[in-house]
Amino acid sequence: MTPFLLVLSSPSGGGKSTIARQLLQGREDLAYSVSATTRPPRAGEADGVAYHFLESAEFERRVAAGEFLEWAEYAGHRYGTLRAEVERILAGGRHAVLDIEVAGARQVRERFPAAVQVFILPPSGEVLVERLRHRGTEAPDALRRRLEQAAEELRAAVEYDYTVVNDDLVFAVEQVAAIIDAETRRTRRQPDLPARVLDLRRDVLLAAAQFGGTVPLPKE
Ligand code: ADP
Ligand code: 5GP
Repeated sequence: MTPFLLVLSSPSGGGKSTIARQLLQGREDLAYSVSATTRPPRAGEADGVAYHFLESAEFERRVAAGEFLEWAEYAGHRYGTLRAEVERILAGGRHAVLDIEVAGARQVRERFPAAVQVFILPPSGEVLVERLRHRGTEAPDALRRRLEQAAEELRAAVEYDYTVVNDDLVFAVEQVAAIIDAETRRTRRQPDLPARVLDLRRDVLLAAAQFGGTVPLPKE
């Protein structure tokens, strides 16, 4: 099966990081693409786990060196997906989970049309505000900016392949998992399918021959 990019976007506080974390816990076929950012780490965010935290000059150097598959500015900081990170994941036969905002997702869509794009919706505006406040990672001014940006980002939901409402977390994770499972079964993602079908046809015709069948075995 050909591994693919799974893009998860939502307005800030929509729950994409939480959903990504839960998804990855239970599945061997996924790996999280750790982005680079110029944003300072939040409490508990380890370098190389949540993000690769970079100084602005280093981020710029990597942009100039073409190291990013996509990058965008968000709430005053830069965020980008490292090509090497995604290539390593795909080469290992796993799907790469990208937790990225909408401008970056548009760039991915152009470069990787086979990417699967899921937009996570909050159940309501009130719940979104409550979850963001509860997370407690933003000062009031930054919170206001993120909410204004959230209203803008929600407009992009219709550009995605799928939308999932993040009301009950367990159910939301199950729905994203179901999307991944369905996508892995797409015929175009199974390069070995023609060979498998050929084997099956041969077996069936051999069985038919035992009942007196005379159709010659297929060659390819
Ligand atoms: P994002 O990554 O989209 O900015 P987070 O994953 O950080 O959002 O979620 C924002 C906050 O909402 C976090 O504190 C998280 O624990 C909480 N949260 C996420 N999903 C749910 C849910 N379904 N029910 C209750 N709280 C949730
Ligand atoms: P946060 O600061 O809350 O961790 O992330 C802010 C926003 O940046 C979120 O919407 C998150 O999905 C997005 N983001 C994280 N990494 C990347 C990335 O590599 N590229 C892009 N375009 N957005 C990212």
